[in-house]
Amino acid sequence: MTTFDAVLVGSGINTLTAGALLARDGWSVCVLERADRLGGAIRTEQDYTLPGFTHEVMSSWHPLFQGSAAYAELADDLHGRGLEYVNTEHPTGTAFPDGSAMFLGTSLEANVAEFDRVAEGDGGAWQRQFEEFMGQADLSFGVLGTELWSGSGLGLGQRMFRRLGRRGLLEFAGHALGTCRDWTQATFRSEQAHGLLAPWVLHTGLGPDNAVSGFMTQVIACAVQLGGMPVPVGGGVKLVEALSDIVRDAGGELRTSAPVRRITVSSGRATGVVLDDGDVISANRAVIAGVTPTQLYGELLRPHETPDDVRDAAARYRYGRAGMQIHLAMDEPPRWTGPDADRLARSAIVHVTSGLDGVSRAVNEAERGLLPAEATIVAGQPCAVDPSRAPDGKWIVWIQLQELPAGRVKGDAAGELDVGDGTWTDELREAYADRIVARLGASIENLASATLRRIALSPADLEALNPNLVAGDIYAGSCALDQNLLWRPFAAAPGHRTTVESLWHVGASTHPGPGLGAGSGYLVAKELTKPPVHRRLVARLPKVSDFTSDTSR
Ligand SMILES: Cc1cc2nc3c(=O)[nH]c(=O)nc-3n(C[C@H](O)[C@H](O)[C@H](O)COP(=O)(O)OP(=O)(O)OC[C@H]3O[C@@H](n4cnc5c(N)ncnc54)[C@H](O)[C@@H]3O)c2cc1C
Repeated sequence: MTTFDAVLVGSGINTLTAGALLARDGWSVCVLERADRLGGAIRTEQDYTLPGFTHEVMSSWHPLFQGSAAYAELADDLHGRGLEYVNTEHPTGTAFPDGSAMFLGTSLEANVAEFDRVAEGDGGAWQRQFEEFMGQADLSFGVLGTELWSGSGLGLGQRMFRRLGRRGLLEFAGHALGTCRDWTQATFRSEQAHGLLAPWVLHTGLGPDNAVSGFMTQVIACAVQLGGMPVPVGGGVKLVEALSDIVRDAGGELRTSAPVRRITVSSGRATGVVLDDGDVISANRAVIAGVTPTQLYGELLRPHETPDDVRDAAARYRYGRAGMQIHLAMDEPPRWTGPDADRLARSAIVHVTSGLDGVSRAVNEAERGLLPAEATIVAGQPCAVDPSRAPDGKWIVWIQLQELPAGRVKGDAAGELDVGDGTWTDELREAYADRIVARLGASIENLASATLRRIALSPADLEALNPNLVAGDIYAGSCALDQNLLWRPFAAAPGHRTTVESLWHVGASTHPGPGLGAGSGYLVAKELTKPPVHRRLVARLPKVSDFTSDTSR
């Protein structure tokens, strides 16, 4: 069959989720993936470093998916197809250079005590901000879970206005625009509390001095307390398999090694795609592209198929800082140093940084094209949540670095490494990985002696695995305010509808941005499967039974 209701380009979390929801609703679906496997940035490799060690090569942590609307709707289908989540009460902590540490867990009471431990009064501040946030959580999460340029977006705005009033709405928006630095410093006395929260802003694609980073830090901090740090038993591949099986079980197709070269357009409407090998696959109802704007408007569509201003704006779409991954197989669990060693060993994600200013400095150095002198090390410990990832008694470390230059490396802020012509050679990657591992070794005393094997992936290696990660930007586009929220992917074509009829744009480059929340795939699938207007109006009319039950009272 070469004609489907929907053809989806790429097999990331968003297209897979959209495909599963459409397939469940009776659509015939075809997912086309250029790589040799499905999943995009979800890539679980067994025996990756050594036999018996299972690594998440890229994304690892699933709080966004487990908290998503897509999961709420698909959970039974996914669990019925083998997906199982495990979670932890110890999602995160920060290890500071002086050997001290601070933690954020899943218990409000314990978090209040932890904030008070570092500074009397900060516990109350944590509780107050949490309660205030929860009072408006439907609005905050609503901004991230709504198609903003639509009737629902307007409805959300009206709901905010009715609840908060003009002044309250202005205050809410003003608060949302603030920086992580301003919010953490105004809320908590302790610098350790700032250092606990600030690294989380990196996971939203921002830095602590960017607009909106205060709101994002608060959203993530509260979400971590509410949701912990779940991972699928056996790795993210289990989620990919379960979503793919929903599509297959409904008669859909998923093809790997099937790069899409072009989207076909006839009379202003998307009609299907052409693959690199010349195969044509037709779409009766929708083409859903999970790619960057650069690829969508610059390669997959021909110039005359989109307005000039949209094409020009897409060509100016900016990519953000690059990322790097380092994977370690260890002969034994890590022995963290300091009085909180045990708690650090139990934590899913430990940030190693000197604090808010340390994160700010490293972000600034990366944004100026430099390798940071002291990067924020995101040390993930999957075995602390899912011991099946390594043989008995062994361990893996998932290290993520999010403060690397976008594009060419201009120099080394520490003045130590020769960056050559600024391209990511194997030598530069390994030399930088050496620096990171040596710094982490100051916090984990057996890191060097227990490491059995290391694999590092530079920004160039990441882009080679997935072309959406342009120049190693793990979030497929800068999340600065002019490319975020109402403006994502960019002001000339915000949201998911495109200027070509029946062509929809999803993925990390689109609202609500990067992460495993599947938000864009969900929103588009819901839009495509919503009942026609007349049926929705009829559904709102009172039923005959409403009247008959009245009379029987
Ligand atoms: C290293 C790394 C670590 C991360 N860690 C986390 C984490 O722990 N938790 C979290 O929530 N988020 C994490 N993220 C972010 C999150 O994984 C991504 O934002 C999300 O997976 C992106 O999903 P997507 O739907 O945009 O598609 P992607 O995952 O980007 O997949 C797109 C797919 O489309 C394919 N494709 C592109 N062009 C074509 C074409 N022309 N034809 C056919 N196929 C094509 C690509 O090969 C790719 O497989 C991480 C990201 C990276 C890169």
